[in-house]
Amino acid sequence: MFMRVFVILPAAGLGTRMAIGHGTPQSPKQFLELGGIPVLIHTLRAFAAVPSVMRMYVAVRAGDMERVAAQVAEYGLAEKVQVVTGGDSRQESVAHALAAVDCEDEDILLVHDAVRPLIEPAVIERTIKAADKSGAAIVVVPAVDTIKQVERTADGALITATIPREYIVQAQTPQGFRAGLLRRAFAEAEAVGFVGTDEASLVERAGGQVMVVPGSPANLKITQPGDLELAEFYLARRATR
Ligand code: C5P
Repeated sequence: MFMRVFVILPAAGLGTRMAIGHGTPQSPKQFLELGGIPVLIHTLRAFAAVPSVMRMYVAVRAGDMERVAAQVAEYGLAEKVQVVTGGDSRQESVAHALAAVDCEDEDILLVHDAVRPLIEPAVIERTIKAADKSGAAIVVVPAVDTIKQVERTADGALITATIPREYIVQAQTPQGFRAGLLRRAFAEAEAVGFVGTDEASLVERAGGQVMVVPGSPANLKITQPGDLELAEFYLARRATR
């Protein structure tokens, strides 16, 4: 059967961690340029390159809707992209987009951070395949550092445990799910007031099994100063491959 894939791109963050100097926030990171093209456009192009992707929903702050819609049109992506209003948290932004998505429970929904512009279409395809097989799959990278659990005290943080590294992976995006499962997970989270920092945590809470798909450190989330330069480096390296 022909598989249909829909994509949600939360892009309503404020980019406050990119603040430089005296706490002056820069332009939110999804609007910064990478190789002369807005970060969000790189991200949209990667998903547009995957044939099973039917439609993409970008959640942005209300005041950015016009600017983003204009940008999407300028780069010839308007046909497949819908701009929706985001919320105060990432989860709320995704929930708003989820309400706008017109798809069946059997379709695949991918959620991807707008600020991970270097995602490769091949990794997107792998995620779709795994989500189709198991109902839920996310991109991860192995932890390279030793992981400590800490407890914060008045005198600073104290280590309470060392978590064996072989049990640890770091979650990236895309995170892909059968649409019915993701909708149920969001409804259950909302009912109990659970807020997670990724979609998989909501699905885990709802009892879903989530598979992992290997990603790459190049799929970085542009979050803090220096990340953009690193992304420029990866982009230039890709161009010479
Ligand atoms: O804050 P975090 O690093 O988890 O942000 C990941 C993605 O979620 C970013 O693309 C950001 O724009 C988006 N986000 C959002 N709505 C918020 C906060 C973050 O869409 N309220």
